Amino acid sequence: MTDDRTRPLLLTPGPLTTHSRVRAAAGADYGSRDPAFVAMSDTVRTRLPALANAADTHVAVPVQGSGTFGVEATLGTLVPRDGRLLVAINGAYGRRMQQIAQTIGRKVQGLAFEETDAVDPARLADALDADPGITHVAVVYCETTTGLLNPIEAIADVVAARGRELLIDAMSAFGALPLDLTRIRAQAVMASSNKCLEGIPGMAFSLIERGALAASGGRAHSLALDLHAQHEAFAKNGQWRFTPPTHVVAALSAALDLLDEEGGVPARGARYAANHAALTEGMAALGFRTLLPAELQAPIITTFVQPDDPAFDFTRFYDYLVAHDFAIYPGKLTESPTFRVGCIGQIFPDDIRRFLACVDSSRAALGYSAATGAR
Ligand SMILES: *Cc1c(COP(=O)(O)O)cnc(C)c1O
Repeated sequence: MTDDRTRPLLLTPGPLTTHSRVRAAAGADYGSRDPAFVAMSDTVRTRLPALANAADTHVAVPVQGSGTFGVEATLGTLVPRDGRLLVAINGAYGRRMQQIAQTIGRKVQGLAFEETDAVDPARLADALDADPGITHVAVVYCETTTGLLNPIEAIADVVAARGRELLIDAMSAFGALPLDLTRIRAQAVMASSNKCLEGIPGMAFSLIERGALAASGGRAHSLALDLHAQHEAFAKNGQWRFTPPTHVVAALSAALDLLDEEGGVPARGARYAANHAALTEGMAALGFRTLLPAELQAPIITTFVQPDDPAFDFTRFYDYLVAHDFAIYPGKLTESPTFRVGCIGQIFPDDIRRFLACVDSSRAALGYSAATGAR
């Protein structure tokens, strides 16, 4: 790893610290009809399903915008107007899917869990058995709100066994955590150029089952967020329907090369896991405790409970870390004050060790104690 990364290092859920080759690729201008750009879009669209072992079953349909644009496009394109969606909710991103479905006029209900509990496949099974009118289930793979890992295979089995369709928000998991669509039955998997693929933000995409995509014409609530129409445009001439995010696609193409060079999804997941292990061990040694028990925690982003010490002030802590070139993220929970530290992007265990040294020195510099007692 070289060190021409920009500072501060982003220990956040995204945007993330990127490789210089990714940023360099974003530095070229392409016209939308430029054959080089059309070929690049084509290659990116082919490479994405392969990352989930879905080259034969699913098509990648990209859409301009952040991840939420992809989620809204996917729900609007795949859930029929007379369908019914059940969203398993254990964090802000599950809640957002429910809100999207309500906003675009799809019948939706939430199945709520504590934010510190995983989605329980047995409760989901009961909900589906009790209501045969539910056609689709949406679930978040890694709930970035807390960093919690939902049991996606068990959830998919429950949904498939009851003949319903599964839509997975894999935004903060895709490219790093295992996702094999020959083992998991899902109608769609949503992700973005940013996050674990380590591109720059600006493009979302959905891997959609070929048959379901073909059957989805005319269903979308929106002109721009219609993935069926978007796919038709690509099928016709390889071009994006509206102004393409050319720089984002070029950066993603370079980011996919880097993913291959790193050793693919397992190797990327292993690097994040090494970051995560260094982080949680080091923070524990400094007296910080995690919100979640280790068995529910994904190696993507980790929530720490703020120290009880009244001398601890999150803003001063944040400013201290940024002054030393590390950006972290505030918590997203209502009950307990927390903060989050991300392990994704061009971040390596050595960076985490330097971060820990900085947290260590912040204790004396800011005059607080982190020992909050055992869980
Ligand atoms: C980041 C993220 C999204 C999309 O958020 P945007 O801010 O629109 O990119 C959706 N779901 C999950 C789980 C995420 O982590």
